[in-house]
Parts: sequence; structure tokens; C-alpha cells
Amino acid sequence: MTKAIRIHTHGGPEVLRWEDVPTPEPGPGEALVRHEAVGLNFIDVYFRTGLYKTALPATLGMEASGIVTAVGAGVTAVKVGERVAYASAPIGAYSTERVIAADRLVPLPPGIGFNTAAAMMLQGMTAQYLLRRTFRVEPGQTILLHAAAGGVGLILCQWARHLGVTVIGVVSTPEKAEVARAHGAAHVIVGHANLAAEVKRITGGAMVPVVYDSVGKDTFLASLDCLAPLGMMVSYGNASGPVGAIDIGLLAAKGSLFLTRPNLATYTAKREDLLRSAGDLFEVVQSGAVRIAVNQTFPLSDAAAAHEALEARRTTGSTLLLP
Ligand code: NDP
Repeated sequence: MTKAIRIHTHGGPEVLRWEDVPTPEPGPGEALVRHEAVGLNFIDVYFRTGLYKTALPATLGMEASGIVTAVGAGVTAVKVGERVAYASAPIGAYSTERVIAADRLVPLPPGIGFNTAAAMMLQGMTAQYLLRRTFRVEPGQTILLHAAAGGVGLILCQWARHLGVTVIGVVSTPEKAEVARAHGAAHVIVGHANLAAEVKRITGGAMVPVVYDSVGKDTFLASLDCLAPLGMMVSYGNASGPVGAIDIGLLAAKGSLFLTRPNLATYTAKREDLLRSAGDLFEVVQSGAVRIAVNQTFPLSDAAAAHEALEARRTTGSTLLLP
């Protein structure tokens, strides 16, 4: 038997149940992975509440590290006994072991431990595509990013600084401002009440060429006002709720802006892209340019407490669930 955190209905953290499920067998092209660590991500909340759709009952979770214990026919991407990690659909990572398509697994280099891997694959590959592909930042630029002390946020701060970029981070408390500063944010704004005015002051009126906004509903419009003409609005999350429909005329009125709503699945759909993205991440972590801050750990069986902390904005950096 396998242990898993499953939901039978959508709702608050109380719908998460620690249950026995039969151990799955890998079919053709699949691998069975015994999990050593599971990553907590905000997307897990969206699946739990029903904002993102899934059939029920469902095992949550998109990210984990572990050891391949069996493979199905035709698998060449990984071998039994190999150390691997993944950040991929379908959900199912909140479990002691699971079956997943083998071509979604990334072999881990010797220097990357299971905890670091489970804490960084999803958030770190997201930072990779945001900074290197969605909007390719250049040295000397100043950028704005929200939730700067969060999981994706702390990786973005460090990676952007490593690329010679000046980061303006937005957080909700002075304590989080300290955390963001310690990870490379040159300027930190607490709260978003006067966001455009603060960005104007910090940039001497130039504003920024890109905003990475993961907060969504509460900050979308304020973020648009921080962009320089022809700037890019990257709306990549909904921590405060979905942005919903917008009038595209706003993009013209605010300076011929670009808008994208990207997700990691698109950027890692091809295996070559997945491996390149993970490779870039391993490089910045192994060189020490980016340190993965695992600031909270919970037993996997107590995933509900982890969800409560994440939604109440009590976490900083990355959070692990340990089987
Ligand atoms: P975080 O660790 O960043 O946690 C979320 C943070 O969002 C909170 O700590 C809080 O920071 C901020 N926040 C603002 N408003 C709210 C609110 N109403 N409720 C809760 N939190 C709020 O999470 P992750 O690093 O896991 O993810 C960050 C964001 O990036 C999420 O929105 C997630 O969906 C998105 N994401 C998108 C991906 C993509 O490919 N599109 C991939 C990965 C993540 P503060 O208190 O400082 O405001």
C-alpha cells in the first residue's frame, strides 16, 4: 500500500485526507518513484479549492524528488535506482510513491540533494523561464516582482541579481522585506497601496520594463501603472484570486504594453526544454548564485497545516512536505 493526501471534495485545508491507496504499477513509458521529499506550491491550493479543475477523488501535488523503483516497457529516460525529481502534471505528488510518465523525470546531479530538489524544481524552473524566456532580462535593468519573499520570489530575487539586474520586490510585511533584501532585492516596497509612486521614486521616473506579478486580482492594475512604455506585464499567478477579463484598450492607454499569462507546463512541454530549464537551475544552485531557502517543513501527513500557513501568508521561501 501507498500513503497519499487525497481530496474527495473541494474546500479548505480540512478536505485533505491521509489515506491508504493501492501501490500503482508502471505501464509502458512510466516509472514508479519512491518519494524522499515533496514540494509545496501555491498551485496545490488552486487544485484543492477547485479554482483549477480535477476529477475527484484526487491526490494533490505537482513536485517531488525520490528514487526510481520500477519502470514500465520502453522507458529510456531513467533507470531503476536513479535519483530523480519532477515538477509536472498530472497531480499526484502528495504520496509516498507514485507512477508518472518517465519523460517528465529529471535525473539529479550528485551535488543536488533530495530536499533541495523537491523544494526548487517547480519554483526554480518557473524563475528560469520567467527571467530567461518570457522576458529575457539584461544586466543594468530594474525589474519589479511581487511576493518577493515567497518560494518563486526568493529564487527570482537571487537569480535576477546574479544576472546583473536591480530588483524591486513587493512584500506584505517589514519582516518579509528583510528576507527579500537578504536574498538580493535592492529595493523592497511593503504593501501595494502606492506602488506606481514608489516605483517612480526608485527608478527616477523611468519605471520598469517588466513586472512579474503572481498575486493577480489585487495587484494587476497597479502593476500595469509601473511599466515603462512598451513594457511587459507577466501575470503568472493568482494568489489573491484570478485577474478575470480585462479591457485590452488599457494596454494601449498605458503605453502600448505587452501582456502574457504564462505557465510552466507550456515552457517544459518538450523534454529538451524541461532538461535545459532544469540544467540552468542546477547550474545556478551548484555555483552558489542561488540558494534554495527551505524555511518550513511539515510531515506529508500534515499537509493541511502547510496549506494553512501558505494561504495565511505565514511562509517565506520554499516549503517541504516529508513522507
Ligand atoms: P509563495 O511562497 O509566493 O506564497 C504566496 C505569496 O503570495 C504569499 O506569501 C504572499 O506574500 C503573496 N500573496 C499576496 N496576496 C495573497 C493572498 N491573498 N493570499 C495568499 N498569499 C498572497 O508561493 P509560490 O512560490 O508557491 O507561488 C508564487 C506564485 O507564483 C503563486 O501565485 C503561484 O500560483 C505562481 N506560480 C505560477 C507558476 C506559473 O508557471 N505560472 C509556477 C509557479 C508558481 P506577501 O505576504 O509578501 O504578499
